[in-house]
Amino acid sequence: MLQQVNGHGSGSAAHSGESLREDLKELLGGEVPPQQLNDLTKVNPVTLETVLRCLQARYMADTFYTNAGCTLVAMNPFKPVPQLYSPELMREYHAASQPQTLKPHIFTVGEQTYRNVKSLIEPVNQSVVVSGESGAGKTWTSRCLMKFYAVVAASPMSWESHKVAERIEQRILNSNPVMEAFGNACTLRNSNSSRFGKFIQLQLNGAQQMTGAAVQTYLLEKTRVACQAPSERNFHIFYQIYKGAHAEERVRWRLPEGAAFSWLPHPERTLEGLWLGFLYRGLFRGDQGGHASFGHRCPHPEQHLSGSVGTSALLLGLPEDHLLETLQIRTIRAGRGQQVFQKPCSQAECNTRRDCLAKLVYARLFDWLVSVINSSICAAPDSWTTFIGLLDVYGFESFPNNSLEQLCINYANEKLQQHFVAHYLRAQQEEYAMEGLAWSFVSYQDNQPCLDLIEGSPVSICSLINEECRLNRPSSAAQLQTRIESALTGHPRLGRDRLSPEPSFIVLHYAGPVRYRTAGLVEKNKDPVPPELTSLLQQSQDPLLKVLFPADPEDKSPEEPSGQNRAPVLTVVSKFKASLEQLLQVLHGTTPHYIRCIKPNSQAQAQIFHREEVLSQLEACGLVETIHISAAGFPIRVSHRNFMERYQLLRRLRPAITPSPHGPCPDGGRSECPPCTEPATLQGLLQEILHTLPAPLHCGRTKV
Ligand code: ADP
Ligand code: MG
Repeated sequence: MLQQVNGHGSGSAAHSGESLREDLKELLGGEVPPQQLNDLTKVNPVTLETVLRCLQARYMADTFYTNAGCTLVAMNPFKPVPQLYSPELMREYHAASQPQTLKPHIFTVGEQTYRNVKSLIEPVNQSVVVSGESGAGKTWTSRCLMKFYAVVAASPMSWESHKVAERIEQRILNSNPVMEAFGNACTLRNSNSSRFGKFIQLQLNGAQQMTGAAVQTYLLEKTRVACQAPSERNFHIFYQIYKGAHAEERVRWRLPEGAAFSWLPHPERTLEGLWLGFLYRGLFRGDQGGHASFGHRCPHPEQHLSGSVGTSALLLGLPEDHLLETLQIRTIRAGRGQQVFQKPCSQAECNTRRDCLAKLVYARLFDWLVSVINSSICAAPDSWTTFIGLLDVYGFESFPNNSLEQLCINYANEKLQQHFVAHYLRAQQEEYAMEGLAWSFVSYQDNQPCLDLIEGSPVSICSLINEECRLNRPSSAAQLQTRIESALTGHPRLGRDRLSPEPSFIVLHYAGPVRYRTAGLVEKNKDPVPPELTSLLQQSQDPLLKVLFPADPEDKSPEEPSGQNRAPVLTVVSKFKASLEQLLQVLHGTTPHYIRCIKPNSQAQAQIFHREEVLSQLEACGLVETIHISAAGFPIRVSHRNFMERYQLLRRLRPAITPSPHGPCPDGGRSECPPCTEPATLQGLLQEILHTLPAPLHCGRTKV
């Protein structure tokens, strides 16, 4: 019994192989082979504790994948396991007549989607939703799946105009390191943390060959360009450029060997060094009148401050004085005649404008990069018929201080959870109804109330934050706090932290409560870009910046309204909501598959299983609930064809159990007689069937 094997406390559980074997033996009642635990729906009873124990036992035995009904649980090994991802193994899963009978693996999911998409009866687009907290292995999993498809859905060689044979899937795989260089960074939780969400659509032709792909990204954490949490780093690309630049480039880009840049902390942590002259933090220093003048904390005293402005201007292809003036002086248009006023900025304002400029350039650069990648990997519209989508989205986040970023991320997770529960239960129950099976509808925990609180109409947290932005008035955190409380008080998913020293509210997410600080929400949601910064960049002589900031005045984004131009304010939240809805629409048109990545410890160490940490992740993704749902349904689903192939022997029972026109069999079908074509006893036939079956289909729930 489980209680008896529960001898390992929380915290690090250095589990010896021997005790593990004992655990497994006990978990399995000493009888059932370990592969019975391949599926957590077979653990009985299904509780957090039993599931945790099972995952722990498997993890310590280097078994990283476990089925949980419709979901695959992927534990991060935190060590290289090359044999688990070899092309040979990919081919094995691909060639298997029933891949689901092999050990649980992301390749089972890969193969299942690949088979579904090529089903001749009803080809349907597929999607794989990979979730989990930062560092749990989502990006790794998506990358491995892409490699899997590259092997099993290899395209024919195409000849480029420059007469180089190239496989499209290779090009798709090669886009990964580029996107990761620009979109990933070293954080406290993951040294290669993706700071954006990604949905990649792998496009397949009628012959099931990969002919192209399209990437969609979500909410890049652009603030990282100008501000990194202690012990974290900027995006990898800066360090890589710094480290990789050769002598001539160092001169051209003003990157002296050994330079240190305050926006590029911890070059030693892993990976490489940096770039961009205009990224000096501390570029502005307040003068005595409270206005800013250039000052710098450049680590190289010989490099005069104006040198860094000069470098920035040079690299941005702008006149130095124009750059300086735009950063230091605010232009205000007012009155009917749109008169222009100029106002010198304080040091803090200058710093904000400098940061804003950097974020603006980087965000546009990232979007441009994604579009370049797309144009190089996207198949012609008539060259593909179906797709497999891979979603690598940021997991649920809860920090001591949470802000708009976490609100968006957790909102996305709520949406995906709702899609998961609704889709899975609906699909399953519809199938039962279609098959004419006796089934009473299973109700499930719906997270709609939480979504209503976040995004609902007429009043929700998002609508109130948006409203504050639209009113365009100076609003304090306390003001927003009051509005949220008075409009939404009593909402079942809204809580209040009375002990909090600052204005904040709590959202009771399906994955747990999160406290959001009200301060800064409105400003972040506005994400204001002074129009003069955009027009400054539109005057750049740099060829790339000319592309990123085309001079066409109609290009003005609605987020940058100038003067009286009251275009509807597209806030961060409303843009994010729109892109999320688009994503969900795509997902709704597919058959979804789910992989939940779990991080066994936060030190990124192999063979360490921190029970508390895993427990909170299991709770956060509602895994036990999922298993319950799966277990409540029929545990075995066999297609009619498979069933007939396996059980057609049963037809031979007919004479024994059906009264024949010749009257009852004189000895009950026990011996040969004319009316019974194939005499057999029921027992004999069942034995024959069991003997014939390649893999016995039985529920095999394991009592623990
Ligand atoms: P996430 O995208 O969920 O934040 P990653 O996919 O970047 O996490 O994984 C974090 C790190 O964990 C990787 O850089 C890698 O070192 C390790 N890792 C993840 N999955 C595996 C795996 N299946 N095998 C070996 N190492 C892994
Ligand atoms: Mg990632």
